[in-house]
Amino acid sequence: MYRGRFAPSPTGPLHAGSLVAALASWLDARAHGGVWLLRIEDVDTPRCVPGAERLILQQLAACGLVADEPPWRQSERGPAYADALQQLVAAGRAYPCACTRRDIDKALAARGVVHERFAERVYPGTCRGGLHGRPARAWRLRADGRVRWVDRRLGEAVQDVGAEVGDFVLKRADGLWAYQLAVVVDDAAQGITDVVRGEDLADNTPRQILLQHALGLPRPRYLHTPLVLGDDGHKLSKQNGAQALDLADPLAALRAAGAVLGLPPLAAEDVHDWLAAAVPAWAGIIAAFDERLRKRP
Ligand code: GLU
Repeated sequence: MYRGRFAPSPTGPLHAGSLVAALASWLDARAHGGVWLLRIEDVDTPRCVPGAERLILQQLAACGLVADEPPWRQSERGPAYADALQQLVAAGRAYPCACTRRDIDKALAARGVVHERFAERVYPGTCRGGLHGRPARAWRLRADGRVRWVDRRLGEAVQDVGAEVGDFVLKRADGLWAYQLAVVVDDAAQGITDVVRGEDLADNTPRQILLQHALGLPRPRYLHTPLVLGDDGHKLSKQNGAQALDLADPLAALRAAGAVLGLPPLAAEDVHDWLAAAVPAWAGIIAAFDERLRKRP
């Protein structure tokens, strides 16, 4: 049975970009006769904005997107994440790390690696061999291996997680659970068969697959949707001019999101009409994706 989800972080209201991911995940669930769930990803508490969750639920409801089961909240899932970390530690896959950001930069500089501004630091593995008396700050996954995976829209990709990302954080120095661990544990616990989300998260997928493997969890299928770009050519966000979705005209918002997904203009009087027409249109689009995947060399 198909189970999909939309997993917003309550850091602000939905905007034109986040609606694309919400709509695609809903359409994909409906086109497969499946279930659509909502998960509020509020692990990064300092970034959460009071009232944002309520607003997001209202915005989704105004667009006719209502979850089939009560939403989950990651802030209530700490014990499940702790169990998963414990399992990884017991298996020798996770280890404590004492490094500050400065320590990491220094270790990288000593190896002649120049850290570019805003680029992810590949952890140099300093604490792999033990803490040597330094106090533990964070927990990391021992990330060895290349991951090959297929995105339903983007096709096949390979990432050498060890070399390109390095041992990544599972639990942060501030005690908060990292997105990678929380998302993997919850996708499995909610029985998610298909992850449909924005393309900005595509390069997180190999890390999540590595974690699923380490925890003995099933791998869902993945489809990453096109992004809406802001004035500066980057993914639309509050920082580059994203406006909150206008609750006064949800049909226009759906039409715009549908256009990003490649749906043709659909005749509809209201959001429910529009969604009903959009499901078969989306089924046609994903049939073409599947066909392209089948034909790949
Ligand atoms: N919470 C993440 C975000 O808002 C999405 C996570 C996911 O879909 O895996 O960007």
